[in-house]
Amino acid sequence: MAKLFQAVRGMNDALPADTPLWAGVEATLRDILVSYGYQEIRLPLVEKTELFARSIGTVTDIVEKEMYTFNDRNGDSLALRPEGTAGCVRACIEQGLLRNPMQRLWYGGPMFRHERPQQGRYRQFHQIGVEAFGMAGPDIDAELICMTARCWQRLGVQDVALELNSLGTREARAAYRERLVGYLESRREDLDEDSRRRLHSNPLRVLDSKHPAMQAIIAEAPVLLDHLDLESRQHLDRLQEFLSAVGITYTLNTRLVRGLDYYSKTVFEWVTGRLGAQGTICAGGRYDGLVEQLGGAEIPAVGFAIGLERLIALLGSDGYTGLDQSPQAYLVMVGEQAERRGLILAETLRNAWPALHLQFNCSGGSFKTQLKRADRSRAQWALILGQEEIDSDTIAIKFLREAQEQTTLPMAALDDFLRDHLPQPTQ
Ligand code: ATP
Ligand code: MG
Repeated sequence: MAKLFQAVRGMNDALPADTPLWAGVEATLRDILVSYGYQEIRLPLVEKTELFARSIGTVTDIVEKEMYTFNDRNGDSLALRPEGTAGCVRACIEQGLLRNPMQRLWYGGPMFRHERPQQGRYRQFHQIGVEAFGMAGPDIDAELICMTARCWQRLGVQDVALELNSLGTREARAAYRERLVGYLESRREDLDEDSRRRLHSNPLRVLDSKHPAMQAIIAEAPVLLDHLDLESRQHLDRLQEFLSAVGITYTLNTRLVRGLDYYSKTVFEWVTGRLGAQGTICAGGRYDGLVEQLGGAEIPAVGFAIGLERLIALLGSDGYTGLDQSPQAYLVMVGEQAERRGLILAETLRNAWPALHLQFNCSGGSFKTQLKRADRSRAQWALILGQEEIDSDTIAIKFLREAQEQTTLPMAALDDFLRDHLPQPTQ
């Protein structure tokens, strides 16, 4: 039978079978960001369209063709956020957060882009991102990269490599831009339609083209790294020294330009060959001009965003199981008295043991039915309360996952059992 409703194309449900992976990844990333002294900021999913046009740039894939833009009832043009940086900078300026000369922030949540859905590319996807404001040197760039490397290490991510480049200062880029336009003009006949259009509006983006026919042309283009200004050169050199000092390996990728307009100096991506064409799991860089461009002071900034779908796909293929959220115990109750006592027992246990995940049998059912439900709940133990147990003030424990004999304990000994078997609180 055809389903009456289907989800919007490119917008996915995360089902109970998947959410342990999400929860595990999110908890690990959050712990690491917090351990580096980053504070969470929560931002609206919707902003004025103009904010994204101004920050991301009008001649970018995102603004030209990927944004979910609509007029609200007042006639204001709004957009679902395609990324987090613009909203974060807007909030920092508007709320005066940048009066604090240095800010380290992180955020997470869904982003929306109207792209062609395929493996690793969706219309609603999720990022965890970081923005650091007020620090101009390569030390903070190194900190961000160290932090991402620690995320991969803690999660056990395999086969990711760091690619690094510098886009130089605005002035250096302007000089390079002229050379690049000259070169691209000379190959005008061979350019694809998008690249021809961008030849004058945003020629650097031509280097970011994914069009197969463009790859040979891009390979022969002049290299920005060869035309860096002294300041950016030194910035990059020191960043490389920092990375070597902590043993983080990388390759310089002179073609790495990133799809957004606002970057300057450092840009980086963490890339894997194991996710097909959508191999970038994290992308970031420095955007020293953006705060001013959005109406704030001249404040340097650097950030990155991790694409959670891609990270989770990579981890899932390596057997990562994430954060187990199944209950430890399932309370089986047989007989009228047991049913009456059961809810009180369940609530008493929950009061005493906040770490206990206990599922309570609802809708009655035979002993066999309840045990089946207990098994399906993925619980470790069935706690069994029947008339016999009520009469003798005991409780039976059936081990559902290990080959261990069922046992009956005095009710008063249940606390000892839980003390021995529940995971210890971590703090
Ligand atoms: P791509 O080149 O793959 O389109 P991008 O440069 O557009 O990436 P960013 O804007 O830098 O991506 O976003 C940071 C990260 O967010 C990406 O590296 C990727 O992991 C993830 N991401 C971006 N777009 C999508 C999408 N449509 N679906 C899933 N993940 C995405
Ligand atoms: Mg993209």
